[in-house]
Amino acid sequence: MNAIRSIRTPAELTDAGLVAPDRLAGIERLAERYAIAISPAMAALIDRADPNDPIARQFVPDAAELNVTPEERADPIGDLAHSPVEGIVHRYPDRVLLKAVHVCPVYCRFCFRREMVGPQGLGTLSPDAMDVAFAYIGDHPEIWEVILTGGDPLVLSPRRLTEIMQRLSAIDHVKIVRFHTRVPVVEPERIDDALIAALMASGKTAYVALHANHPRELTPTARAACARLVDSGIVMISQSVLLKGVNDDPDTLAALMRAFVETRVKPYYLHHPDLAPGTSHFRLSIEEGRALVAGLRGRISGLCQPTYILDIPGGHGKAAIGPDAIRQEYAGRYTVSDFKGVEHTYPPSE
Ligand code: SF4
Repeated sequence: MNAIRSIRTPAELTDAGLVAPDRLAGIERLAERYAIAISPAMAALIDRADPNDPIARQFVPDAAELNVTPEERADPIGDLAHSPVEGIVHRYPDRVLLKAVHVCPVYCRFCFRREMVGPQGLGTLSPDAMDVAFAYIGDHPEIWEVILTGGDPLVLSPRRLTEIMQRLSAIDHVKIVRFHTRVPVVEPERIDDALIAALMASGKTAYVALHANHPRELTPTARAACARLVDSGIVMISQSVLLKGVNDDPDTLAALMRAFVETRVKPYYLHHPDLAPGTSHFRLSIEEGRALVAGLRGRISGLCQPTYILDIPGGHGKAAIGPDAIRQEYAGRYTVSDFKGVEHTYPPSE
């Protein structure tokens, strides 16, 4: 049953037992619009006997994706509004996104860049566009951090990654290079010595932000891949999307955050799902999200607490939207809630 190569077509989904033949026509229509890829590691994790399997829900296309609601938009977090040159998004003063590639080893059904990634997406930056992107970074001394995203930058060959890192190495004001990736979980076999050497080739401090949404994704093989990265001196942080039917219950979220910490990946962002087209079946309300995040306080260690984040549509950036822990009553007097939801005044009255 386990695929030896990625599943990429509706017919391969039926052959792999992931889509019933009577659903094939709907999935074929969907495949004309959005890319499909399920890596062997993720296909092997899916429990075919469970119609609500949280791994399948993330990667197996569903005809519900054809329902686009009025508030959804092709560029939900407003990358294009902040793209001064091709491949660069400069939304905050001290950091830029460098989108060198728009392919991924898997295509998440809730992807916020689903209109840009995949074989029909924005492709790979041409050498000329890459020159312009590096010139932009070099000309802006306020850029302290470069975040390689896309697409998934770790699908690039070690040779291509090394070229990019060597170019960053020549820009003194860049101190941090961050890679946003799903590879250590979905294609852990890619994390070998050559890839790690490429990630370190800039000589800058390297961070890897690992995207995973369910504790089952942190398999022993995935944990070993993360250990190789961390042992090499790379700092790892997490990012997850809060997804209906995947991780929207306290036990799953707690287990996911603990799995990250056990793997030496510091929980960082828990994203409220973006308004990407055809993804309303994944979205819960902000009230539901805040209640879930509030439930993590006290229940699991402070090491395991992510920041609940909304990317404000239109390119206005991220805002923390977790449960308010403190409220100002008047100058110098606050009310603060403990992890059981009990309110206390600060400073205490007596
Ligand atoms: S790995 Fe990231 S960019 Fe690629 S499909 Fe998933 S969410 Fe989108």
